[in-house]
Formats: sequence, C-alpha cells, structure tokens
Amino acid sequence: MSALKKIKLPGWIFIGMILGILAGLGCMYGMADGGAFTTANLKPFGDIYINLLKFLVVPVVLTSIVSGVVSLGDIKRVGSIGWKTIVYYLATTAIAIVIGLVFANVANAVGLFPVLETSGLEYEANSSNVMDVIKGIFPSNMWQSFSDANMLQVIVVALFLGAGILLAGDAGKKFSEVMESAYAVVMKIMGFIIKLTPIGVFCLMADVVAVNGPKIVGSLMIVIGVAYVAYIVHFVVCYGVSATTLGKVGFVKFVKGIWPAMVVAFTTTSSAATLPVTIDCSNKMGSDPEVSSFVLPLGATINMDGTAIYMGVTSIFIATCYGISLTLGQMAMIVLTATLASIGTAGVSGAGMIMLAMVLESVGLPVEGIALIAGVDKLFDMGRTTLNIVGDSTCALYMSRLDAKRAARLAAAAKK
Ligand code: ASP
Repeated sequence: MSALKKIKLPGWIFIGMILGILAGLGCMYGMADGGAFTTANLKPFGDIYINLLKFLVVPVVLTSIVSGVVSLGDIKRVGSIGWKTIVYYLATTAIAIVIGLVFANVANAVGLFPVLETSGLEYEANSSNVMDVIKGIFPSNMWQSFSDANMLQVIVVALFLGAGILLAGDAGKKFSEVMESAYAVVMKIMGFIIKLTPIGVFCLMADVVAVNGPKIVGSLMIVIGVAYVAYIVHFVVCYGVSATTLGKVGFVKFVKGIWPAMVVAFTTTSSAATLPVTIDCSNKMGSDPEVSSFVLPLGATINMDGTAIYMGVTSIFIATCYGISLTLGQMAMIVLTATLASIGTAGVSGAGMIMLAMVLESVGLPVEGIALIAGVDKLFDMGRTTLNIVGDSTCALYMSRLDAKRAARLAAAAKK
C-alpha cells in the first residue's frame, strides 16, 4: 500500500497506458469484436476526460495569454519574446518537414512504400488556401471565436486584450485583476482534471489498441513506421539539442519532465486538450510561468512539427501510389506549404489530415489520395501530436532563458 502511495502522477499515467494497452489486446484477441466492446464501454469515459480538458482550453488560452502579456509588463518584452518564439516555431517546423521528406524519400527509394490501388478513391476536401488561413485568424465576433473554440482567433483576442490592459495603465488594472483571478481559478480546475489522466489514458488506449490493432498489421504499417522514425529523429536531434543547449535542461530530465504531457497528447491526439498538462510539466521543469503562459498556448495552436513531418511523409507516399515522382522544386513547395498548413492546423484530433489537402493541392497531387491513409490517420496523429507539444515545451524553456538574460542585461544597464 505504502509502495503504491509513493507512485507519483507520471507513474500512474504510465501504468494507465500499459494497462490500457493490455486491456485493448485482451479485448482484441479475446472477443469476436473487441473494438466494438471498448468503443461502447471504455471510450465514453475517455471522451469524458477529453471533454473536460477541452472545456478548459478556451479559458486557459484566453486567461493565460492575457495574464502572460500583462505580467510581462511592457509591450517591448512581449514583442521581444513574441518574435523570437515565432522564429523558433517556424524554423523547427521547417527542419521537421525536411526530416520527414528525407526519410520518406529514402524509404521510397529502397522500395519500402507499398503501392496501393488508387482508382475509385474519393475524398471530399474542405478547400482552404493560404489566404483563407490568414484571413481566418482575425475574428469579426469575439464571442463566436470562443464558442467555436477557434484557437488562432482566441489568441488574437487575448493578445489585443493584454496589450489594451498594458496601454490603459491604471484604468486597465481592475480588468487585469479579474483576468488574473480567472487564470488562478482555471489553473486549480486544471490541476483537478489532470489528476484524472491515468483513468482517461487507460480508457482511450484500450480503445485505440482494440480498434486499430488489426489495422497496424495492414499494408500501411511501413508508412506509419517511417513517420514514427522521423518523429523520433526530430525529437532526439532537434528537440534534444534544443532542450540541452538552448534550454539548459539535461535530456533525461527533459524527457522525464515532459513525459506526462507526452502520454496525454499520445492518447487524446489534441495539443489543445493537452495544453493544461504541457503548461504544468514545462513550469515544473523550470520554465518561467510568465513566459510559458504566453509561449505554450501559442505553440499549441501554431507549432506543429509532428504534423509537418506527417504531411511530408504522406505526400511522398500518395505521390508514389499515383506513380508520380516529385521534383526538388515541388518538395521545396511542400516545405513551404506544410509549414503554413501546420500553422493553420487546429490543435484537435485529426485536423492535420484536413490541412493535408492544402499541401497536396499546392504540388498538384490528387487530394483523393488522402483516402488511402484516412483509415489509419489516428495512428499517425498519436505520434504527431506528441511531437507537437514537445516542441512547444522546448520553446518555453529556451524563451525563459532568453528572457532571464534580457532581464539581467537590463538590470546591469540600469545600475550603470
Ligand atoms: N492532432 C494534432 C494536434 O492536436 C493536429 C493534427 O491533426 O495534426 O496537435
């Protein structure tokens, strides 16, 4: 009993995941239709957990960004962290997609990719182009952004509110206190919901294994495998280097610290839903809460390196199935559009697949090809969401360090 008491939340999350996998395997092999059983009996509890996380997302993003901007104290500090964060996010995303393309091309060149039948495929794409994505960032009705949980719009609203409070000076104080108090309340609720993670993870994992188990054995296993190899390489090379050299946190400590958020991302397949846990883990690892409350909600919305890798790998795979070989120019185009598409991808389950249409269209690949991977998108999504939130966390560590340096520089200059 006392040994059980010693296990901390990350340990319980891990146990939940392992038990979930075992229960999923048990249902898959032990029942005629184990997938239907877990979907009817376990998944609803997992969905309740996801709903609880999701209902918090808009309040977390709104109150944390507003209080983040306000606690940064002056617009210059917001700007200084803001542009560096965006450059970091864009650069790592571009690296991710290059890694994805390299691995996919190598796998393709050595004949690992299966060539699937493409005749008769149908996929109804929601046509969205780059301009639509940019236009969609700016809300015409603030309340609608909240009720639609349109996170890019919520971020824009929060940035305006935060900047307005700072510029209003004394007149803005009361409003700022209300937002700060709301943030404290939201964080408390978040702490409670995070405690439910092991149960949520157990239910979701059991269902994913029981439903998708047989599919993993299918012909797409190699393509999924290539995406995961690229995810892992990006994790170790890009984020490992970033966490240790830029964030100054040892790799093992970083992996241990971000682990609970990784498991939640892996099982919920939503960066937005994972955000409360990502904030918690990053702050415990040493990120400055003032910085992370600004950098992390932004990252959960616009920084999607896993999604970018997925777009690169699946584009090459779809091209192969259609017998099309892409030129270097087309690949450069994929780097550009996948970077933009990943920014426009909402941090919710399955959003990356919808945005994949934009990437395929940009290089003239048939959008119907998405139907080839739609059935196993969940499996791609688990890995890509996990990578997405890890990237956000490395950025929070790095920006916290840069901000501390800036503060020290300013203090030294003030002494002179
Ligand atoms: N599920 C991913 C996320 O929330 C987005 C995607 O579908 O690529 O980060």
